[in-house]
Amino acid sequence: MDFTKHENLVDEWLAAFAAALDQRNIDRVLDLFEPKAFWRDLATFTWNIYTAEGRDAIRAMLTNCLDATTPTAWTVSQLLEPSNGLDQAVLSFETKVARCSAVLRLRGGRCWTLLTSVAELKGFEETIGARRPNGAPLKYERGRVNWKTKREQQKAEIGIETQPYCVIVGAGIAGLSLGARLKQLAVPTLIIDKRERPSDTWRQRYATLSLHSPVWYDQMPYLPFPETWPRFAPKDQVADWLDAYAKIMDLDIWTGAECAGSRYDEVEKEWRLSVVRDGRSIELRPKQLVFASGFFDAPSIPQIKGQDLFRGKQFHVSDLQGLDDCEGLRSVVIGAGTSGHDVSAQLWEAGSQVTMIQRSPTLVTRIESLLPAVAIYNTDTPGPKLPVDLADLLVASIPNRLMPQFQAPVVAAIKAQDQAFYEGLRKAGFLYDFGADGGGFFSRGTQDPSGFYIDVGASELIIDGRIAVRSGVSVEAIRERSVVLSDGAEFPADVIVYATGYTKFVTLSKVLPEDIIRKLGPVGGIGSGVRSDHGPWKGETRNIWKPTRQPGLWLHNGNFGLMRFFSRLLALQIKARHVELTTPVYGLDEPGGHRVDIDQIDVEPAPGDQVHHRHAFDGQVERGPGG
Ligand SMILES: Cc1cc2nc3c(=O)[nH]c(=O)nc-3n(C[C@H](O)[C@H](O)[C@H](O)COP(=O)(O)OP(=O)(O)OC[C@H]3O[C@@H](n4cnc5c(N)ncnc54)[C@H](O)[C@@H]3O)c2cc1C
Repeated sequence: MDFTKHENLVDEWLAAFAAALDQRNIDRVLDLFEPKAFWRDLATFTWNIYTAEGRDAIRAMLTNCLDATTPTAWTVSQLLEPSNGLDQAVLSFETKVARCSAVLRLRGGRCWTLLTSVAELKGFEETIGARRPNGAPLKYERGRVNWKTKREQQKAEIGIETQPYCVIVGAGIAGLSLGARLKQLAVPTLIIDKRERPSDTWRQRYATLSLHSPVWYDQMPYLPFPETWPRFAPKDQVADWLDAYAKIMDLDIWTGAECAGSRYDEVEKEWRLSVVRDGRSIELRPKQLVFASGFFDAPSIPQIKGQDLFRGKQFHVSDLQGLDDCEGLRSVVIGAGTSGHDVSAQLWEAGSQVTMIQRSPTLVTRIESLLPAVAIYNTDTPGPKLPVDLADLLVASIPNRLMPQFQAPVVAAIKAQDQAFYEGLRKAGFLYDFGADGGGFFSRGTQDPSGFYIDVGASELIIDGRIAVRSGVSVEAIRERSVVLSDGAEFPADVIVYATGYTKFVTLSKVLPEDIIRKLGPVGGIGSGVRSDHGPWKGETRNIWKPTRQPGLWLHNGNFGLMRFFSRLLALQIKARHVELTTPVYGLDEPGGHRVDIDQIDVEPAPGDQVHHRHAFDGQVERGPGG
């Protein structure tokens, strides 16, 4: 392809943009943007995660932030292939304190979308690559302490003799990924987790669980999977990997250490964190406190009349036991999201006769049909590969508002290609949809990461009748050996599984003082107004990966891909505070005046996380990767 015309367009735009910024001529800058352009900033201009939608919002952002940012050295680092009338490029630039990346999309010569993202802080770069530690001593000295002794000493001292600058509560993928980033940035950090092995979150999940996101997407920071790693790793292998990751990254972790309470000392500007470790109370005093405690953190079991009379076995999907041999047992699975599907299939394999109760439509997508949408990460295909950091940046460059639009061709292709599949589901009485905005899986993930299933085989069991479905109904009552549905039908049952999701923010609401929770306002969701992602529209995930209204408090959560990407952004924001850079935050989330929403989720966040979508799962918390 002849890139010259495309290259000239991008070069001309960038030269005009850089000159207008230099001259602080905001009107001239705005002339270069479409009236409804999007500028998503990840901690470069705003020290926040913020999308300015439209010229007025961009003007306001620049008026506030331009002088302090002083962007310079705008350069095209890579031209991307033009598509659908868009000229696209990856850019680099610098601010006073940081080296940054950008992704530009031009339409008819004007900017439609711009992403600006911090990459590293000048003078405080990660100790990776050429900056990696030497390991072997540069010179021998008498009395020199070897690495192992030194590390053992540091590990024994942190939290006892020395205070960590940052404490991360939770050593799941969120805590570990952030801990690894902070370590490379030399931020003294202690991760605490109440479990003996943090990977137990994964070990305790149901036996048949494998990741629904592909290996290419799931890489943790700094440590790619070996080429032998399965495409969709079984959950116990994931758990082993996380244990190994913590060790290889040499993180400081206290296990068996529960964060029981906290208060913020306004005078010292630090936290007083009550931690119970091995039955002993310890106070930690970090300047920065990050909750990576898993936001969907308590099983949600609906109260149903007669539940206590049931003479069979009842389980929440988070705590399935003894289901290996269910030969001849009649099982009712309440819920039709990811775990409802996975567990129904598990019960069927174990010999049970299974009925799934589906209250409302589920967003179902065949895994094979979804993979092309995340092909940007696919390292198994022949040919040159995009570095994962670049793939993450390109994914992040799509503003949330435009996600349904960007996903429309994917959804259309899925509908066309999988017509027979959806027809089979319909005939089996299963209710499905493509999201309230028609944006499919990835769009749902930004708004409300629940109520979906990436089909890895259970749909086939539904289509051919091996798993029965009763849809559009709920369970009204439970009797000794049966369940009664809202349409009056009664089903015999020996086993009931509640695949009814999780309650959010239980840890946060236990550990943070009430006034701080109130100060935060809503957590998670982008304010789409869809399902439980109530408005007003924010365009970015509320309160996650970015400054909150409580100094020194951060919330971190998401699927593997999100954690890889946002762990760097959050770590850089924390590092900036550690070295006392000036970090004026623009566009903080509003104080809600109400508590963190503690919602019941009908259907748990699907495992298949949204690969392509940065928000997916994000656990996002509020009922997901907002941001
Ligand atoms: C069934 C299922 C399938 C999934 N499949 C995928 C998938 O295919 N791909 C994908 O990318 N994602 C998937 N996910 C989603 C996502 O990866 C997980 O939700 C992920 O485990 C969240 O990581 P986390 O670190 O935020 O939380 P967690 O893994 O829950 O870790 C939180 C940690 O915090 C600790 N903790 C909590 N409270 C305290 C306290 N007070 N003091 C000390 N420690 C505390 C807990 O012990 C825990 O170890 C799936 C999730 C589920 C439920």
